Amino acid sequence: MTSTQPLPFSSAEKLHYLSSNLRALLVWPVVLGALATALWSGAFWIMENEKRAISQRAFANASAQARAYAEQLDRIIGQIDYIMLSLKYHWQKSAGDVLLEEQVKQGLVPAAAGLSITIVDRRGMPVTSTLALGRNEASIRERDYFKSHRAKDQGLLFSKPIDGMRTKRPVLILSRRLDDAQGAFDGLIVVAIEPAYLTSIADYTGLGKGDFMGARRADGVFLAARMIGVEPTAGPVLMEDPVLPAPAGLEKMAGSRFVDGRTRYIGWHHARNYPMVGLVGLAEQNLMAAYEDRQHELQLIALAGSVLLLLVAGTGMGYSALRVLRREYAREVETAYRLATESAREGFYMLRPLYDRQRQIVDLLIEDCNERGAFYRGLPRAELLGKRLSATAPLLFQSHMLPACRVAMEKGFYEDEVHVPSHESRQPQWLQRRLERSGMGLAVTLRDITDAKLQQEAMHRLANADPVTMLPNRHWLMSHLPATLEQARGAGTLVAVLFVDLDDFKNVNDTLGHAAGDELLRAAALRFKALVRPGDSIARLGGDEFTIVLASAHSEEDVLHVAGRLIAALCDPFTIGGGTRHTVQASVGISLFPRDGNDGPTLLKHADIAMYAAKTGGKGNYCLYRRSLSDILLQRVTRQAELRHALEADQFELYYQPRVDVATGEMTSMEALVRWRHPQRGLIPPDDFISLAEENGLIVPLGEQVIAKACAQLALWRDAGLPVVPLSVNVSARQIDRASVSACLGGCMARHGIDPSQIEVEITESATVAQEGTAGAELAAIRALGVKLYVDDFGTGYSSLSQLKRLDMDGLKVDQSFTAQIANGPEDLAFFTAILAMAHAIGMRIVAEGVETAEQLHLLQQLQCDEAQGYYVSPPVPAEELAVLLTRRFLFPRT
Ligand code: C2E
Ligand code: MG
Ligand code: MG
Repeated sequence: MTSTQPLPFSSAEKLHYLSSNLRALLVWPVVLGALATALWSGAFWIMENEKRAISQRAFANASAQARAYAEQLDRIIGQIDYIMLSLKYHWQKSAGDVLLEEQVKQGLVPAAAGLSITIVDRRGMPVTSTLALGRNEASIRERDYFKSHRAKDQGLLFSKPIDGMRTKRPVLILSRRLDDAQGAFDGLIVVAIEPAYLTSIADYTGLGKGDFMGARRADGVFLAARMIGVEPTAGPVLMEDPVLPAPAGLEKMAGSRFVDGRTRYIGWHHARNYPMVGLVGLAEQNLMAAYEDRQHELQLIALAGSVLLLLVAGTGMGYSALRVLRREYAREVETAYRLATESAREGFYMLRPLYDRQRQIVDLLIEDCNERGAFYRGLPRAELLGKRLSATAPLLFQSHMLPACRVAMEKGFYEDEVHVPSHESRQPQWLQRRLERSGMGLAVTLRDITDAKLQQEAMHRLANADPVTMLPNRHWLMSHLPATLEQARGAGTLVAVLFVDLDDFKNVNDTLGHAAGDELLRAAALRFKALVRPGDSIARLGGDEFTIVLASAHSEEDVLHVAGRLIAALCDPFTIGGGTRHTVQASVGISLFPRDGNDGPTLLKHADIAMYAAKTGGKGNYCLYRRSLSDILLQRVTRQAELRHALEADQFELYYQPRVDVATGEMTSMEALVRWRHPQRGLIPPDDFISLAEENGLIVPLGEQVIAKACAQLALWRDAGLPVVPLSVNVSARQIDRASVSACLGGCMARHGIDPSQIEVEITESATVAQEGTAGAELAAIRALGVKLYVDDFGTGYSSLSQLKRLDMDGLKVDQSFTAQIANGPEDLAFFTAILAMAHAIGMRIVAEGVETAEQLHLLQQLQCDEAQGYYVSPPVPAEELAVLLTRRFLFPRT
């Protein structure tokens, strides 16, 4: 099945096959699912890594920034503290004689925006300040830091951001205690720093929106912060004050801890010398912006990969499903094929050739076979599969199998029938092999043709045997002869073909019946068989013809001797048909190889010609073939063909010879005598063709033509008003034999309205005698029509008057040889006289034929012969001339 052909499965069948092959299908989603997982894991790993790197970078950044800021704070606070300490020193030294306003003017203390220094007295009232003091300055004595310092010197004290007493804005307060000379509390140096001042000193490079930088007290209390993107000063960014352990730290803080809800990476660093912490917060959002792009990109890649994998999985599953279905289909086909082959009457083999280095097939591997195929080999199928052919049939392999396989592989096909020697009766003896190349292998079909072969052999035997004598027949002879001749040709020896024909065998068949005829043939065959030597053969060609082939003849004499013995073998009469003794003779024609022919048909033909010659030369003879015999035969064959043509071309016509009353000369009858008007040779007399026509049977249609023409002519004369006389027609023994005369006569007479008394039939004496058996009935039938019967040429045969009487003949036509002799003397006259006396005694009329002279007529008148016919009266004449004679009626020449 090609890939484009649809599979002949229903949906349910497909579902069934696919569900039972789930593993093959699921392998795709499983493998590709794993790949997708790996892809996504990879993507996540990369993302996580990047995220980690970002946070690490963020932490590093935050840490560095925090440290720098802490250092900055340390420095600034250090500077402020330095100023405070130097002011304290001057204050105490000068017992309070310090004027900050002066100091500012002289640049001893900074007058930076956001930074103010004020000295308050022990009551908390401002004494001097970098800011101009008003009239109603309020006391700070209620402030916590004041109270703390008053109670005890606290060193440098940082306060929480508080609303400045004077600035009214949130400020950070740094304070130191002033002591008088006695060391009693004498006031404070208060530095108020606006938170923005603390954040203004930081370096914001590298920070983005939402990032912040802030300062805290070491205990976590918020001091100042600045967030990028919002007001320069900002309140606390964190919801509550975290404890930031020293000396530094990093932490990712959830958005919930920030006032703006943003998650941040926090780095902090404690100032080295002061309880202050620099704090840097990097908004995760900023950090993750690039990361998110990258994450997006990676997700897209992973998604695209997943879609691709999904597609591949889908395609793969589709492909696998198709493969599964195809495989199932192939399995179904194979199962069906196996079922078919197993139930088939043929044996099947699939062979794979094994080659040597020269690419020559040296053996074949049995890839598959069905049970029947294995049975033909006589081995179980399981024992054959995978075996080499040579191992399964060592004897037949080289001689039978290998050559056939080589031819089949080369030409694509090989077929033959092989005889398989088998000891087991169940096993076939004959196999028909068909080998067909199929791809790289050979498909072999074996069919048991034993029955057909045995039948064929039986048919062959039947076809080659004659069922009557069980001798070989003509078919066998013709197929056997070539080998015999070939052998003789090689050995340079002689082969004789003897054509034996039983003479007058037909008489046996006719008189005693076919069963007796067959019996005689069998008996004759037995006698012939007894004469031939081993190596010679004898066959019956059909009818009464036998052929004997002498393959071991040494010389011509030897052959003639055998022919003589064959003829002699029949001399003793055969006892057949329940005790009848019968004698037959044989005519033998002989042809010799190589002298008379080189092949079977020629030798047989020549032996046949020689046999014919033998028969013509007198029966019971043999004759060797000569070339001249062939020529004679050729002539005969030509004449026969001409005769046949003449019949068709209506070349025959009738002459009529009158018969007269001897006493009065009145025309009593006339005889129709046939002539052949040959287009080249002119008018041919009947003696030249009647015997030939009798031999080949053409006399029957010719005889019918004569009867028809005679009747038609008689009717014409009658209708012309002529005084017609009876007309006699000559009929051959062969016509009587065929029993065709009475029917033909009856038909023609009826057609032309002719009275039977007007027709006579002449039949020769010899024929009359021979016909006593079967033909008696036909003669009786003719007589029954009312037609008279005459014996023609009486005196030439051996009939007796009693025989003629039995046949109920009406008259005798004495042969002209007797008429010719009557004038010779009293002896010949006496013979004629005796015939006349006897014939008259049994009531038969006598016609003298061939009356040529007045003397003969005169003598016949004296003898009181009834009728005369002859040239003296009239030769046979054409119809027109006879019409004249009819009118004349009295035909004796007027002397
Ligand atoms: P046949 O029946 O004995 O006929 C008489 C033959 O003697 C005729 O020869 C005739 O011409 C010849 N003949 C008559 N008068 C004389 C005579 O005075 N002297 C001599 N020497 N001969 C005389 P034809 O016509 O040549 O016939 C020869 C034979 O051919 C016939 O002998 C007959 O046996 C046969 N024949 C002729 N026509 C037919 C026919 O239609 N059917 C058959 N079956 N045989 C025929
Ligand atoms: Mg005649
Ligand atoms: Mg005659």
